[in-house]
Amino acid sequence: MTRSARRFAGVTALVTVAALLAAPARSDPRTPHLRPAENTDEGGIWSLSDKTEQQAKLSAERNRDPALNAYVQGLTCKLAAEYCDEIRVYVMDRPFFNASMAPNGYTEVWSGLLLRAETEDELAFVLGHEIGHFAENHSIEAQRAMKTRANNALALQVLVSAVAMGAAVGSGSPQSASDIMRAAGSVNDLIYLSAIAGYFSYSRENESEADTLGFRRMVKAGYDPAAGAEMWRSQIDETAASTFPKVREAQARASIFSTHPLSVERVGALQTLAKGSPAGKTGDRKAYRAVIRPHLAAWLRDDLRRRDYGETLALIHRLESLEEDQGVLAFYRAEAYRQRRGEGDLIRAREAYTASVAFVDAPSAAWRNLGDLAAQAGDKAAARSAYETYLVRAPQAQDRWLVEASLKKLAEGTAT
Ligand SMILES: [Zn+2]
Repeated sequence: MTRSARRFAGVTALVTVAALLAAPARSDPRTPHLRPAENTDEGGIWSLSDKTEQQAKLSAERNRDPALNAYVQGLTCKLAAEYCDEIRVYVMDRPFFNASMAPNGYTEVWSGLLLRAETEDELAFVLGHEIGHFAENHSIEAQRAMKTRANNALALQVLVSAVAMGAAVGSGSPQSASDIMRAAGSVNDLIYLSAIAGYFSYSRENESEADTLGFRRMVKAGYDPAAGAEMWRSQIDETAASTFPKVREAQARASIFSTHPLSVERVGALQTLAKGSPAGKTGDRKAYRAVIRPHLAAWLRDDLRRRDYGETLALIHRLESLEEDQGVLAFYRAEAYRQRRGEGDLIRAREAYTASVAFVDAPSAAWRNLGDLAAQAGDKAAARSAYETYLVRAPQAQDRWLVEASLKKLAEGTAT
């Protein structure tokens, strides 16, 4: 079912780069402040979106940092001025690249996206892409297409779940719906969610249109025209580094069957658009990093929960090349190696912990874990030194007794 639905939609909605560049807006954009009547399909989508929003507000995964939420809301408003007071942004701590905007203005931005954007410009492009879907009422179009394959009530519920879950995310990041559900299963009814991958997606045409609209909004707001192509390029590279062959292969499959592929064609189309635009400012990395920094460690820890060490390591390498937050990044690179336990990974982990502790922002746990790995390798002097530094740096640590016991054992070992 899933496969045939995908295939059907993919074949009917092939789009060329030329068509994308022409960027036809086939229907008028939505009128601000217009709520559809309750007894219409659209009204039904709105009221279900209202209910889903109430659930999201109470979600344990909601990030409640007022400064972060205000920042993302402010950026969204800057890009979507005419809809600003209709859009309500909720930052969710979920380790997937995702943003979604329901027709009633309820918007989720996931931590996996904030972690992966390198600059405000890149985030602006993705938000602009979502605003594009929102402004053109693409979700209503998608719901109409779904009604031909499912009864109306199911189509409605699938749509709202999909919008909330971001099954329609512009990245086309080929994490399976079940992966996403594992991260966010508490939000919606799993029975409906299981149908989403097959039933719901924006058409390729709508995805390409959203890219173009997102590009225009971002450039109009003064951001770097190259940011959109760079953002998608990074996501393609990260996918190619996945631990899981199915995720890696999805990229190739997507070019033929998937309805919202993150393809090289889309990147190429955005690059062509960027070439035709006057150069904007270069993305401000430092300001964006400052906003993200308080959450960086927690989000990297969440990312490791996906157990896709290939992707996480690719992400960390990319962020490390920007030369910010080196201690934290090296620590989580070490954690990825230590958890992956492949051949040579413990040696790599020890090297990465060692790299981490050379930076001022190294987490205290880097010394403890460095001590553990040194002890395992029989390097007692290094282990003792690392444990002692840990106790000095984290005098209140809950595992203090454990580390003290390890030190004692090392001392006994030396005595015999
Ligand atoms: Zn999209």
